[in-house]
Amino acid sequence: MNARGPTKHVVIVGGGFAGLACARKLAKSDSVRVTLIDKNNYSQFQPLLYQLATAILGTDDVAASLRGFFLGHPKVEVRMSEVTAVDPRTRTVTTADGTSYQGDFLVLAAGSQANFFGTAGAQENAFPLYSVVEAQRLRSRILAVFEDADRNQKLLEEGALNFVVVGGGPTGTELAGALADMINHTMTREYTDLAVQNARIYLVDHGHALLAAFPAEAHDYAARALQRKGVQLKMGIGVKEVRPDHVLLSDGTSIQTRTVVWAGGLMASPLAANSGLPRGHGGRIEVRPDLTVEGFPGVYVLGDFANIPGASDELLPQLGSVAQQSGMWAAKNILAEVAGKSRTPFHYHDKGIMAMIGRNSAVAAIGKKRHELDGFVAFAAWIGVHALLMSGVRVRIEAFVDWAWSYFTKSDLIQVLDRSDEGRIDWSEGKEKEEKESSRISPAA
Ligand SMILES: Cc1cc2nc3c(=O)[nH]c(=O)nc-3n(C[C@H](O)[C@H](O)[C@H](O)COP(=O)(O)OP(=O)(O)OC[C@H]3O[C@@H](n4cnc5c(N)ncnc54)[C@H](O)[C@@H]3O)c2cc1C
Repeated sequence: MNARGPTKHVVIVGGGFAGLACARKLAKSDSVRVTLIDKNNYSQFQPLLYQLATAILGTDDVAASLRGFFLGHPKVEVRMSEVTAVDPRTRTVTTADGTSYQGDFLVLAAGSQANFFGTAGAQENAFPLYSVVEAQRLRSRILAVFEDADRNQKLLEEGALNFVVVGGGPTGTELAGALADMINHTMTREYTDLAVQNARIYLVDHGHALLAAFPAEAHDYAARALQRKGVQLKMGIGVKEVRPDHVLLSDGTSIQTRTVVWAGGLMASPLAANSGLPRGHGGRIEVRPDLTVEGFPGVYVLGDFANIPGASDELLPQLGSVAQQSGMWAAKNILAEVAGKSRTPFHYHDKGIMAMIGRNSAVAAIGKKRHELDGFVAFAAWIGVHALLMSGVRVRIEAFVDWAWSYFTKSDLIQVLDRSDEGRIDWSEGKEKEEKESSRISPAA
């Protein structure tokens, strides 16, 4: 630092686990100033999105103001704006309103979006679950189909209470379990005139195992836990098309539904395609072990936006813990560069992964060991595994009180229909086409 203050400017795009961790570490140094740009004015805590979608938690519980993290840190400026263009050679980004930000260092941490793998109709008709806005839309749809069916029970015959979850990874498995609990415990209590017992949840995956990233024994455990809750598993079956009122499956059957949850895969958020940087698997930016990009001095790419090589050259998974640690490591390397020292390769500390399968069941994989957990132990373990992530995002303590209340009283709390799924459901949509095709399509069992 000289007498006028820090001389180096770091521009960070994305205030999720990775960008926020990087900015927070840099904020403690006198040798840099930081501009943190995010299209939202908040940082979201994705591991709690399915609780938001199933009305266990509210929006404030899973998102925190970005500016709030930097009170008392005048060297960090937060800008709410969507970055639409990147020039990695000059380390400049331009936002939707035409403002440009140029840094001595550029850190890209713009996260993920749903990957529909070109499935017809999925982008238009399915509900992904990768952001607060998407979780709000999904919750609104779930509550809306219950309200509409309550007024007009004939809609049950049109699959109003059929829910299809696409993807048996942690997001799909956790969401299916939470949705089953919501229906079995809360909706049965609140919709006393509605035949809620006719609600069906299907989980469809073209693979043959749930939680494929977990050790083998966890796959059966997850399947049994979901089946106990009434979730119907359709494994080894793909989704061919998502229409407004049904999904077509690869075995030739279809399921009538107005709610298809897409947890079928991730790809880098759209900015990656316009970044001029080398991309690899999932459209993510290829980085070197020290988190920089070959041929672009001063450019770092982190978290879900990057393909980060692990210790044995495998790619690290898209996890909050990877993102957060990569953010802190990038800050360390930037400060080393400013001080004229060498960068070091990122070393990831794997603290384990965990999936909650509704109330009372969870599976954790820590190293090569797998643990099946029940009841309060499952709840406490979740908090243990996520403690480090939470310290970064400061999830409100009330969120856990609310979650614990819902967990032990079996009642969900935030049943407020806010219509964030963009208005009323058009129940006539898709019917005309369906009539023409009904002779060809057999209903799902
Ligand atoms: C439902 C769900 C559950 C999960 N559960 C777990 C879990 O239990 N444990 C775990 O470790 N991981 C979990 N993950 C994964 C984890 O949340 C992600 O790996 C992590 O959020 C990635 O962090 P990130 O900072 O790279 O991206 P993100 O957290 O997605 O942050 C990206 C940020 O970039 C911003 N942004 C994007 N594009 C632009 C743009 N053009 N201009 C400006 N800003 C932009 C976004 O608004 C966002 O704030 C879960 C993910 C999901 C979806």
